[in-house]
Amino acid sequence: MTAGKKILIANRGEIARRVIHAARELGYATVAVHSDPDAGSLAVREADEAFRLPGAEVKDTYLNSDKILAIAKEAGIWAIHPGYGFLSENAVFADDCAQAGFKFIGPSPETMRRLGSKVESKLLAKKAKVPTVPGFEGELPSGKELEKIAAKIGYPLLIKAAAGGGGKGMRVVHKAEELEEAARSAEREALSFFKDKTIFLEKYLERPRHIEVQILGDEHGNLVHLYERECSVQRRHQKMIEETPSPSIDAKFREEICAAALRVARQVGYASAGTVEFIVDEAGHFYFLEVNTRLQVEHPVTEAVTGVDLVKAQILVAEGHALPLKQEDIRQRGHAVECRLYAEDPENHFLPAEGSVGVLVEPQRPGIRVDSALEAGKPVLSLYDPMLAKLIAVGFNRKEALMKMDALLRDYVLLGIRHNLDFLRYTLHSKVFQEGRYHTHSVADILAEYLEKRGPDKPAPDLAYAIVALAGKGGAGPAAGAEAPRAEPLSALKGFKNA
Ligand code: ADP
Ligand code: ADP
Ligand code: MG
Repeated sequence: MTAGKKILIANRGEIARRVIHAARELGYATVAVHSDPDAGSLAVREADEAFRLPGAEVKDTYLNSDKILAIAKEAGIWAIHPGYGFLSENAVFADDCAQAGFKFIGPSPETMRRLGSKVESKLLAKKAKVPTVPGFEGELPSGKELEKIAAKIGYPLLIKAAAGGGGKGMRVVHKAEELEEAARSAEREALSFFKDKTIFLEKYLERPRHIEVQILGDEHGNLVHLYERECSVQRRHQKMIEETPSPSIDAKFREEICAAALRVARQVGYASAGTVEFIVDEAGHFYFLEVNTRLQVEHPVTEAVTGVDLVKAQILVAEGHALPLKQEDIRQRGHAVECRLYAEDPENHFLPAEGSVGVLVEPQRPGIRVDSALEAGKPVLSLYDPMLAKLIAVGFNRKEALMKMDALLRDYVLLGIRHNLDFLRYTLHSKVFQEGRYHTHSVADILAEYLEKRGPDKPAPDLAYAIVALAGKGGAGPAAGAEAPRAEPLSALKGFKNA
């Protein structure tokens, strides 16, 4: 117990709640900060204290580091947990925390700085003898010189922002004629999004998979991995469904990629939780992508199969404790999958949606975890990230995990806002997903099929189900005689072998 100590959570929504619960379990009092629209939120009500960040825009509120530090002082806190997004990868903020005498729960500012640049981290990976995507990381010339460099890498190629994140700041270039213009506009975009115009070039892999490795280090030089997560189900270069273990790798590959992640982390003496991301080509070679020096959205699937509470681990490491776990104590048991529920319209290029939560039913049952901050009657604003909730299922094996997820998606009811629940379920039932053969562009193929099958005016199955449920019972749950409509018969899941 660390009685009398307080942790401030510089975030909102489900991740703020997640951190509040972990901190409380360790005996901490919790301090929430909130924008004006978030004044009555669940996270605010659950925290022991709450302070206002005047305004609504993120720059005035959750990115307002001066104001957050002033609140930290007033509240007399010990540490700040940044969650993910917002200030979580901001080394300047981590420095400012240290200057003001607060512990930043995450790796050191020095580590954040070195790994924060995709260019510098790529050089570190090379030094650690970890393969990187062929490309060019130096100062980019223009004109003929630029074309020469690009030709050597080969088309298609990808222009990336060194400081990029959240799937933003990337541009695919298919031919030389598009190169110059794409490079210049990528620079402008990088400058306005990330305040850093540095861009670099990478070979654009055609049908890759995204596999990442969870790492955890302490301030005493101990470092372990908690195995991989398969995150190839993406739209807009952003993850939609994640699972662990990866259905597409074997034990040897697992050992190699996890060892590579540790080699990168050792370059900087990584202390805290972090993720080393890789991309895997069709021939089965993996290449380093980047390191995320923070908690990851998809951390629950790792927690589900390893039994390690990653947020508590972050706090314990920040307290100065040595890792209580050795590598050989960490095993993958069973299989876990996460679906990200987004306020967005799959039928309209995944455009973020706004609305308010009308009816909400979040099932609770064995093997299911719902990380959410949704409440009936509350608005969902497009000012903030469109992720609404994370739905996690864990089973004895992949087949069981997917069946649990299917039932969860079927029974989860959210009315009042456009969301991707039906599309998630459709994706789960797709052949490539069932067979674990998907890559980062599979969602595009699945979407095309989905749009064709759904037809323009048919209500989404979950919507139809909810209406039937409400009409029949005045509450949630299937009405007598009403069967839940399904995107595909459940028997489609029967092909799985017990892994
Ligand atoms: P993860 O693998 O944890 O999902 P993401 O890259 O999707 O990582 O980012 C996690 C969250 O942080 C998302 O809500 C995303 O929108 C946000 N985010 C991450 N990096 C940035 C950034 N540089 N600028 C804006 N938002 C970001
Ligand atoms: P971010 O910081 O936005 O997460 P990443 O470098 O991790 O940026 O890339 C995000 C996603 O973009 C990857 O998961 C992958 O789908 C795609 N991507 C990144 N680099 C490449 C590449 N060289 N070839 C093909 N796809 C890529
Ligand atoms: Mg990434």
